[in-house]
Amino acid sequence: MNSLAENLASVKARIASAQANSPSHDACCDSDIKLIAVSKTKTASDVQAVYEAGQRDFGENYLQDALGKIQSLNQLDIRWHFIGPIQSNKTRPIAENFDWVQTVDRVKIAERLNNQRPEELAPLNVCIQINLDNEASKTGATMAEAKQLATAIDRMPNLILRGLMFIPKPQHDPHQQLESCMRANEQFRCMQNEFATMDTLSLGMSADLEAAIQAGSNMVRIGTDIFGARAT
Ligand SMILES: *Cc1c(COP(=O)(O)O)cnc(C)c1O
Repeated sequence: MNSLAENLASVKARIASAQANSPSHDACCDSDIKLIAVSKTKTASDVQAVYEAGQRDFGENYLQDALGKIQSLNQLDIRWHFIGPIQSNKTRPIAENFDWVQTVDRVKIAERLNNQRPEELAPLNVCIQINLDNEASKTGATMAEAKQLATAIDRMPNLILRGLMFIPKPQHDPHQQLESCMRANEQFRCMQNEFATMDTLSLGMSADLEAAIQAGSNMVRIGTDIFGARAT
């Protein structure tokens, strides 16, 4: 088995080669791709090992699991991203402990995060989660809902609207992955025209990282290929 540092290095190499193969990311432009290491269900010492290999952005889905790690690693310079479904009665610890929240999908949640973000902290970076395939079982806003939500977030002083987040439905065929990711990119570009603070397309996981980058993603969220498979 490879070490976590080796896994991190090989994910970074995949990102670099996907970027080199993508016309939408030409080298002259400021199109850095940010890597989020998704550490859900993994231990604080795993997070620390990846941190020591140079990683600074980590993503967590489960609040209780995350809060323990955030506490025990609070001396480290980590940016924490909340990427799980949000229950409205759990917004306060999210507003108090995270730097980014990528799964905002309704106004009520945005309002609560805005009201609960501590004054002494920088505004919370927010992505709206879009339900790309209109799957009934999934969280995420439709594009029509997203426009209203973005307009509302734009007026909230303690939130900054950074972009859109997508979880396309899992597909093995790379062409189908690319087709989904291109649709996500179109929706992002369309919103970005209206909302000037939007600079982040959060799209791409272990299985579709290449398709996401080829379609123009500039933030990928990688769990399995850095930390190994998760127990279920
Ligand atoms: C778990 C998760 C990831 C990482 O998925 P992997 O397939 O393990 O890379 C990315 N984004 C979200 C929202 C997740 O829940």
